[in-house]
Amino acid sequence: MSLIVQKFGGTSVADADCLRNVAQIIANTHKAGNDVVVVVSAQGDTTDDLIAKAKEITSSPQKRELDVLLSAGETMSSSLLAMAVQALGCPAVSLQGWQAGFQTTSDYGYARIKDIRSERVKVELGRKNIVIVAGFQGICKYDDVTTFGRGGSDTTAVALAAALHADRCQFYKDVEGVYTCDPRKVKGAQKLSEITYDEMLELATLGAQVLNNRAVEMAKKYNVELEVLSSYTQNPGTIVKEVTTMEKMLVRGVTKDTDTARISVVGVSDVPGVAFKIFSKLAAKNINVDIILQSVGRDNTKDISFTVSRANAGEAVAILGAMDLTAGLPVVCDMEVAKISVVGAGMETHPGTASKMFEALYGADINIQMISTSEIKISVLIEQAQADRAVAAVHRAFFPEE
Ligand code: ADP
Ligand code: ASP
Ligand code: MG
Repeated sequence: MSLIVQKFGGTSVADADCLRNVAQIIANTHKAGNDVVVVVSAQGDTTDDLIAKAKEITSSPQKRELDVLLSAGETMSSSLLAMAVQALGCPAVSLQGWQAGFQTTSDYGYARIKDIRSERVKVELGRKNIVIVAGFQGICKYDDVTTFGRGGSDTTAVALAAALHADRCQFYKDVEGVYTCDPRKVKGAQKLSEITYDEMLELATLGAQVLNNRAVEMAKKYNVELEVLSSYTQNPGTIVKEVTTMEKMLVRGVTKDTDTARISVVGVSDVPGVAFKIFSKLAAKNINVDIILQSVGRDNTKDISFTVSRANAGEAVAILGAMDLTAGLPVVCDMEVAKISVVGAGMETHPGTASKMFEALYGADINIQMISTSEIKISVLIEQAQADRAVAAVHRAFFPEE
């Protein structure tokens, strides 16, 4: 007998038929003699719809109240799924995040898990119940409901698998696993049988929505092997783990991230301390800066460009506008950009990767605005309107169709 954690995302539980399909997978796993803990997301676009409802009331809802509202999506789907499992004759109980013992920080909207008091889950398993936990939510020291940020149900699943020392942690999707590119957008995307935590973390951080990056980070920390597979077919999926037996592939995947904005300030004094002063001000406001580009000084001035997530762009521009250093200088903010990346551990030992990517973009007549590299990824910033074409061209260069 094994303890299996199964996570089902919003698409997999979107309506009653989907819920019945998922309930059957859970019931089969339970009938095979396993203990089953399920983590579920809100149905379909529920979270987006709830955010839209809040915005009908106010453009800046209080974060505490937003968490109460958004957590309702997962609370609903967990009880509906428990009913669907019970309808198949299996004992099931739904638990909200606080009942499952998720103790978090009080950072509403982006809470971090501090501890999992999993006694209640264990009691329910002891009673032979299938335990269905509402993903993405916990409780903080003020006894308030908190949520973990978009895509946070994946983290609930990994955290439970780690706390319960589960034998398996499965993510059921509307695709069959992790692919070299979004298989719903790019023809010729190939399914990967295995991928390392580090590569998956880069893919997830750089825009592959298939797994949440915080969840992958936690899986690496606690060495929880993840299995990504389909809710609709029986085909083998993708295993995410520390070391893969596959030969290091030059490139494991290509991603697109449109949640990015480029901010440029032109003609800053070319003196020591400029970068420090600008980026420490942004850091103090918790604004994460991604790609940074500084021009070579000319006529005692230089230009600095950097990217931030779109939600932070307005605040970043305001901060620059209020600094003595940049007073009166033009600050440009371009939201019509996208970041395209290639990821792969094999890159470390293959110097030609960057030029191959640039050649593919050149071949598609796409201009590169910024470049950033690390040992296992290369990212470029381009015009957003070209993003899908860029992804297809770069993917074709690394994964030519037979
Ligand atoms: P869930 O609802 O379970 O959280 P998501 O919708 O977040 O699932 O993620 C699955 C989606 O991620 C797929 O439908 C697919 O279109 C998209 N996706 C993006 N990049 C990739 C990739 N490299 N491999 C697989 N799926 C990807
Ligand atoms: N429902 C939340 C979201 O849409 C959490 C999740 O699905 O993982 O972001
Ligand atoms: Mg998701």
